[in-house]
Amino acid sequence: KSNLRENYTFDNFVEGKSNQLARAAATQVADNPGTAFNPLFLYGSTGLGKTHLMHAVGNEIRMRNPDAKVVYMHSERFVQDMVKAIQTNSIEEWKRHYRSVDALLIDDIQFFAGKERSQEEFFHTFNALLEGNHQVILTSDRYPKEIEGVEERLKSRFGWGLTIIIEPPELETRVAILMKKAQESNFDLPHEVAFFIAKRLRSNVRDLEGALNRVIANANFTGKAVTIDFAKDALRDMLALQEKLVTIDNIQKTVAEYYKIKLADMSSKSRSRSVARPRQIAMALAKELTNHSLPEIGAAFGGRDHTTVLHACRKVVELREKNHDIKEDFSNLVRTLSS
Ligand code: ADP
Ligand code: MG
Repeated sequence: KSNLRENYTFDNFVEGKSNQLARAAATQVADNPGTAFNPLFLYGSTGLGKTHLMHAVGNEIRMRNPDAKVVYMHSERFVQDMVKAIQTNSIEEWKRHYRSVDALLIDDIQFFAGKERSQEEFFHTFNALLEGNHQVILTSDRYPKEIEGVEERLKSRFGWGLTIIIEPPELETRVAILMKKAQESNFDLPHEVAFFIAKRLRSNVRDLEGALNRVIANANFTGKAVTIDFAKDALRDMLALQEKLVTIDNIQKTVAEYYKIKLADMSSKSRSRSVARPRQIAMALAKELTNHSLPEIGAAFGGRDHTTVLHACRKVVELREKNHDIKEDFSNLVRTLSS
């Protein structure tokens, strides 16, 4: 009856700059429940791992002490339970129950807004727990002081322990999360595809998971190789929502710099391998990372025909399979262009 989700652990929580402090604080709370920081208050916008971290603390406490009573509850459920307890004349029992736990985890407490009786009960329960050095962990989608419809005395008490924000993950962390989740699903996700998805979906981890699940399902269903094009197709609607930052200009500059050739060579007629190869790679990148058509890409590369672009794309696919250096170069370029 602890409601803990066992699959939310510290082990599978990917650390990055954006969540480092929150994770560190959560670890300390798991090490010294009731005494490190009490309450621990985690806030941040949706899908960034607040609920995950909260369960991770609970699971860790239970792992070290299987007898520990840890209760997780969404705040709406907490309110419902209380109302039911009042209706069935079992509020005293309800109070005793909550006041006897070693750790109480209440998620999304912004839903307490406007529920005065619940706030009152929670206030007393909360105080009783803190006094007895029982751990309380709370989350909210905003900074405690900014939650409207919650009593001041309650809000001020939320800040007695430690209040920490979780921010949206930066690119590297988004990639690491995708790679980790793919690995957990035994799915072979190419690095450049992870970069592509992470670059396009920037706001939260839940969307990243949704995108990855979609890619995995489509791959299993179609049996096709998982390329950037494949992901682009599978995630078309999700990606349409994200503006595109990668331009052909940018790709040409980046590739020219990478191979130490002149930018003008991207449009020149020269067929010497030392410039033709990078040019083909740049065309393939333009096809994969932008929404431009083959004729548009050809035009941007010195007025070339769309069949030349198509040939370049195919050639690069082939080269990436056969030539390790080119495979590596391509991944590096996608990474550079995506950050
Ligand atoms: P929140 O409670 O902040 O809205 P959740 O904890 O529900 O967010 O996280 C949304 C999803 O993203 C969950 O499936 C969670 O496991 C996953 N997630 C979030 N942050 C991370 C992370 N740093 N590493 C691994 N998975 C994460
Ligand atoms: Mg949550």
